[in-house]
Amino acid sequence: MMNTVTCRKKQKKRWRFPLLFSLLALFALILPCTVFADVTCTPLYRNDADLPEGPVTFRDIFSKPKGERIENVMYKGEPLKDDEILKLAVNNYRYSSLLKQENIIAGKRDWKSYNLADYDALVAEAKKKEEESFYISEITDELFERIKGKSFKDDCTISREDLRYLHVLHKDIDGNVKEGEMIVNQYIAEDVLDILRELYKADYPIEKIRLVDEYDADDEASMEDNNSSSFNFRFISHTNKVSKHGLGLAVDINTLYNPYTKVVDGERIIEPVTGEPYLDREAEFPYKIQKGDLCYKLFTEHGFEWGGDWSDRKDYQHFEMPDSVVETLYG
Ligand SMILES: [Zn+2]
Repeated sequence: MMNTVTCRKKQKKRWRFPLLFSLLALFALILPCTVFADVTCTPLYRNDADLPEGPVTFRDIFSKPKGERIENVMYKGEPLKDDEILKLAVNNYRYSSLLKQENIIAGKRDWKSYNLADYDALVAEAKKKEEESFYISEITDELFERIKGKSFKDDCTISREDLRYLHVLHKDIDGNVKEGEMIVNQYIAEDVLDILRELYKADYPIEKIRLVDEYDADDEASMEDNNSSSFNFRFISHTNKVSKHGLGLAVDINTLYNPYTKVVDGERIIEPVTGEPYLDREAEFPYKIQKGDLCYKLFTEHGFEWGGDWSDRKDYQHFEMPDSVVETLYG
């Protein structure tokens, strides 16, 4: 029998991990990992139950008195933080005889089933749902209504057929799963979908992925809200050349924390203006894109150039297709 249980560790020392053992949320945390159980019918269950090796590890469960038996809990090689919740599935034996009697479980079960197939079905369903959340579509009439007159301006020179809508999942810095929407050029649609899927799988934090139309196509408002987006039709200032965002060939990620900056006539321009504290790229803060990090790697592997590499200006949020692609597509 499979159970999910709510478990709160009693600790007198500084290790105070609220542990929620729950199968229902297993998909998010432990799906690709070891599950603490003594059955071996699928690779998801392991037999080295008491001291499992792998992404979730406990140490010294029995060498200490009750109430101090869980400490140094590691997840994916990192210590669990004080406010982090670990979710785990256990079989009935572990639930009743080990965890409960040994005073590790304090709360109630969240879920139980007599059939392991139920668990497999739940996992499979969650995985399927996750995969189906990443898709590309054309710009439907309904969607066009949302962008017309905003990102798709009246003087828009790019055709609606050249654009694609992406639906994705992403995680914020706290690991909350969110739905995201982005419109890009059809030329990069598959690439951007792959990149965002990889970032999601790796828990790379992206706070918001909303259509810029939700900000009335106001870039500054979108950036101040740390929104990640791509298509927003516009010409490059004082030219009749369409910008790469106007072609849906550039993507901005975590914009507040990765601002654009340039010195013009001795004056420093910063976009968004509220991004000024994040111009210090040596400082520690969330959502920072750094050369060599996963975001940088994925975009550059897919042929994008990074604005953080430019020397006459810096655009840390910005990844774009090279000029040669624009030439090929639009002459
Ligand atoms: Zn940009």
